Amino acid sequence: MKKLVIITGASSGIGKCLATQFSKKGHPTLLLSRSLDKMEDLNLPNSLCKSVDVTDLEKMREAIKEAEEKYGKVDLLINCAGLMLLGHPEVQAFEEWSNMIDVNIKGILTGIHIVLADMKSRNEGTIINISSIAGRKTFDNHSVYCGTKFAVHAITENIRKEVADSNVRVIVIAPGVVDTPLLSHTTNEEIKDNYDEWKKTIESGLDPLQISNCIEFAYSQPQDVCIREIVIAKTKQLD
Ligand code: NDP
Repeated sequence: MKKLVIITGASSGIGKCLATQFSKKGHPTLLLSRSLDKMEDLNLPNSLCKSVDVTDLEKMREAIKEAEEKYGKVDLLINCAGLMLLGHPEVQAFEEWSNMIDVNIKGILTGIHIVLADMKSRNEGTIINISSIAGRKTFDNHSVYCGTKFAVHAITENIRKEVADSNVRVIVIAPGVVDTPLLSHTTNEEIKDNYDEWKKTIESGLDPLQISNCIEFAYSQPQDVCIREIVIAKTKQLD
């Protein structure tokens, strides 16, 4: 059997696509999100599905321990879980931007905290964090979301350098718009309508499969080759 892959945010969008793709390649998977039924519905072989909030360190630790006992050490952690609740911070509810900071920033660090020391001691392993083009540029109504994704870029690059000597790869993927339910969680209808209107100028977002293919490509390089960052968007997307 191939090595264990952990995917957070596996119940929807990009994470769901990653789960299917890595499973098809023969990897056992640990699928994490809060929606157990959606992950179980994928009905993947050699797959452990756990309802876990990525900000809950102890639940994450328990799930990873159980998966490693079943399938061996984790070789790839893909931090995909994320939230995009657009708005202006002086208007938007505290819970919205606070939650986004927790999930998008703390939620990548919990998994990293649990698996990284062991990867270093084994001199192998890969961590892939999904950031965004909003982790490189700013956009209206995106201040906190951009802040969280700039943080994902910074955390990734910093850890990459810290663990490079141990042969562990840390990679960031920065997609432009992808067709997933991500925007649907924004509560401000006007912002959603304007976003949808703008999206028409690029016809549609990327297919989640195109992100999944990039991730598989980066992971499939030899362990001593690190594709540090992939930025991918529709050709017609200007920013
Ligand atoms: P979706 O909304 O389709 O998926 C988000 C996933 O994150 C779901 O599986 C959701 O599961 C999970 N999630 C959210 N909160 C938590 C939590 N507290 N604990 C565990 N899981 C959680 O969006 P995408 O697939 O588009 O998003 C995936 C990543 O890609 C995100 O990090 C996003 O920022 C990034 N991205 C997306 C772009 C796009 O245009 N779609 C562009 C650039 C980056 P559940 O609710 O079941 O817990």
